[in-house]
Order: sequence, then structure tokens, then C-alpha cells
Amino acid sequence: MTSVQYDIEVFESILNHTVNFLEANRSETSDWLTYIRAFGAETLNSLRNKHQPQAKVRFTYDELWEFFHVAKYKSLPTEVVDAKRIIKRYDDTFRGTIEKLSEDYTKYLLENGCSFKLNIASIKGGGAGNKTKYYFRLEPLIDNKSPEVNVRLGSSVDLIEYRLVEMPNLRWYASWLSKIELTGWRRWLYVSIPIFLLLEAYFAFVAFVHLKDFALGFFGTLVFIVNFVVFLPFSAYFSLTNSRVAEAPIWLLPLSVRCAQLVSVPIEDLKSKSRKIELRVYQAECPICGAEVDVVKGKGEFKNRLIGQCYEAGNEHIFSFDHVTKKGVPLRSNGYYRVHKLSKSEKAD
Ligand SMILES: [Zn+2]
Repeated sequence: MTSVQYDIEVFESILNHTVNFLEANRSETSDWLTYIRAFGAETLNSLRNKHQPQAKVRFTYDELWEFFHVAKYKSLPTEVVDAKRIIKRYDDTFRGTIEKLSEDYTKYLLENGCSFKLNIASIKGGGAGNKTKYYFRLEPLIDNKSPEVNVRLGSSVDLIEYRLVEMPNLRWYASWLSKIELTGWRRWLYVSIPIFLLLEAYFAFVAFVHLKDFALGFFGTLVFIVNFVVFLPFSAYFSLTNSRVAEAPIWLLPLSVRCAQLVSVPIEDLKSKSRKIELRVYQAECPICGAEVDVVKGKGEFKNRLIGQCYEAGNEHIFSFDHVTKKGVPLRSNGYYRVHKLSKSEKAD
């Protein structure tokens, strides 16, 4: 894998299943389990609500100790403790338990449709002020460390899987645009803006053609043009009524994000048929060359849809993109063969 990024929804599901499994097998009130729950909740909070990229969702001993303390005692820690020693003990207990129950754990996850297991990984810090940081990592349940067996000339690529890797934070002037719940007045505003624009254009037309009042017609046209220019940067939001997914306008995105998608999804916990618009980043790994596949607006023959485009071979390695199933198929219909990944011995044959 070129990147260690996981799908945020998959991560949440595996975290929940792991906690459920451990609660059923171990004492629910163990401190180390409280710690795992708090660690997981803070990871999700950072990804979903604080909009941090996965590479930054990593915590020091002191931070982890704080999360645990708040979860257990509902207050920030005030006493001085050896956080490193305590957190290390919890980590070891977690790893030890997972290892001891490895067979049952794997079985439980597979039964619940998971294909990854949870582990705690760390990045060693070096020097003063640069502490070691900890994070959750997803590891494949079925060991496919030797994909070389399948990678041979003639084995075609038929499916790629996208991951929801980030919900990026926007610049200050647009941060409220990254998550809009279309309820109440927001819903009305969302529906009425395009109607309002149409009415403006219609009135200008009536003034010119029927009333022959050119001053009024000219004024009406001017108002329409000004409003339309203001509307244009937001047009992607309004295209969601039809397509449910659109390319996010570039002016919204921080420089670190190459491209993102606006997605309109139903709000699950509401009984009404309300929707929300979210900014998300879906990505996949190119099965042909291993580079990242970004989701972009299709051009030419792929107009009016979003497609997955390889960062390295953008004209050739292209795939369909389905945000519901998170799957895609190669769009070059003659099929792709993994000729790029031939090892030296295979080339010699
Ligand atoms: Zn590629």
C-alpha cells in the first residue's frame, strides 16, 4: 500500500466491533477498556468534527492520559502521574488480550463483515519536545502480504475500492460550508435560491418583450447578472439535487487537499426526509501502478459524472466512481493488465 489511510466509516465499524468483543470477553469496567473507548472516540472526533487528516490524528502519552481521565472521572487530570507508564500498560494489555483471543477475535470480526482488525501503532519521536505519538491502525484480517502470486501478466483489474479518507477543514470564511444540514430555514433557502434567479430572469424578459420598458428591463438584467455571478461559485451545491455527489469547488479547499467531493446524504436520526451536505475526500489506490486515485469531474466521453483518476497516469488509469457502494470499475473497456508490476524474473520469461 502506498498510503496507510483507511476509510473513516470502516474504522468506526471496526472500533465498535472490537470494543463490543472485548466487553463481552473481559470486564466492562476495566480501566484499559475505558482507555480504548476514549482513544477511539477522540480519534473519531478528530476525523469527523475537527476535520483533521488521518496523518495528524496521533496522540502523545499525556494526551491519551487526559482522554482516559475525562472518560473515567469526568474531569481533567490535576495530579502529576507517570502517564507514560500507565498508558503503556494499557496498550500492552490491549495488545496482549487481542493476541490471546486472536482466533475468536478474527472470527467475530469476519462474522460481522469486517476485513480489518484494530491495532495500536506508534511513531517514535526524536529529541526533546518531539514525543512519541500513538494512533489506531487497521490491519488486514486475511494476510495478503504476497500479492505477487496474483500479479501476473493477464490477470485483469476488474474492481477498485474507494475509501472515505478525510472530511477536510475549510478556510475560516467557508468552514460552515463543509457541513450543512438542510433543515428548517436552510432547506427553504436552498430550494428558493434557484427559483428566485429564474424569476429574476423571467421579469427582465417580460420588461423587455411585453412591457417594452427598456430601462426596467436593463435594470432587471443587471440585477440578474450580479446575482448569478454571486451564485456561480456555489452552483456545485445546487447540482446535488440531481446527482447527490459533485466535485467541490476549488476555492473551498485548503491547499493540502487536491480535490474533494460534496455529497448529499440523508440525515439518519431524523424522521423527516431531510438531507445534509458534507465535504468529503474519497480516494483509492490505483490497482495498475499503486499511485493514489483521486475523484474528479469526468471530461469528454465521461462528462456529467465523477470518475477516479490515477495521480500518475491520469489519462489512462481511470475508473468509475460510485459513492454509495464505494466501488469502481476500469473505464478503458479493453481491460487493464498489470504489466507495470512485473518483477525482473517475470520479465526474463
Ligand atoms: Zn495508475
